[in-house]
Amino acid sequence: MTSVRQTGLSPGPSRTGIPILGVPVSTMTMDETVAVLDEFLKGSEPNLIVTADSSGLVIAQEDPDLAEIYQAASLATADSIGVVWALKRKGAKASRVSGVDLVSKLCDLSAAKGYRIGIIGAAPGIADQAAERLRLLHPGVNIVGTRHGYFPCDDDEVVAQEVKVWESEILFVAMGIPRQEKFIQKTLPIIQAKVALGVGGSFDVFSGKVKRAPKIVQRLHLEWLWRLLSNPKKIHKVKMLPKFVCLVLKDKE
Ligand code: UDP
Repeated sequence: MTSVRQTGLSPGPSRTGIPILGVPVSTMTMDETVAVLDEFLKGSEPNLIVTADSSGLVIAQEDPDLAEIYQAASLATADSIGVVWALKRKGAKASRVSGVDLVSKLCDLSAAKGYRIGIIGAAPGIADQAAERLRLLHPGVNIVGTRHGYFPCDDDEVVAQEVKVWESEILFVAMGIPRQEKFIQKTLPIIQAKVALGVGGSFDVFSGKVKRAPKIVQRLHLEWLWRLLSNPKKIHKVKMLPKFVCLVLKDKE
């Protein structure tokens, strides 16, 4: 069985980035990121990709297993404007490469090159609705399997055997941080997707269950506030923002 790079203690050879709270975060643009992922897809090894937002980096400070996954992933992109700010503070020319946007770009790549996409996560029915919407938005996208994300950790291997049958080259996992990253890390040796990434609440957005903020709100970088107002359950994530800022300001790395 091919080894999975992210399960080792050191980052893969292609890993570059600027350390933010101990995690090397990529400063590549979206187009450069997609080009790197295309290379991973042409390669022979599975790769875990992390879309790092401020809350994930804060959670990783107190969750050594998540920290290890973040440090050793093949690539960590800057998923939130807070992480872009932290990169810019270190003099980097960084841009946001979010999970939702990566899903769209990888669907375009699948439509162009035929890559097989598996999607797992969100409440029963939502992954199917997201797949339908993605097929409309990206004609020709090759989605080969969908599954909901509500199952106990003890069933991870059983679910992985189900997913393996799809032979996905790209796997989107939307089960929230850190559950999705831990699921991928544990099951990628079975599933063997070339590019597997945690995409948080993306299927809720694509299925239409949760609306994306209007473009103007996105441009003002206030999408987090929009999401909070639409879902007060997310307040705990917003509370992590000041903590993230404090940790970054104290970080001497
Ligand atoms: N979810 C899931 N399985 C679980 C817990 C959550 O599939 O055991 C889904 C949930 O329905 C939602 C997504 O994971 O679609 C989490 O979205 P959120 O925006 O909270 O993700 P995060 O902010 O952690 O990236």
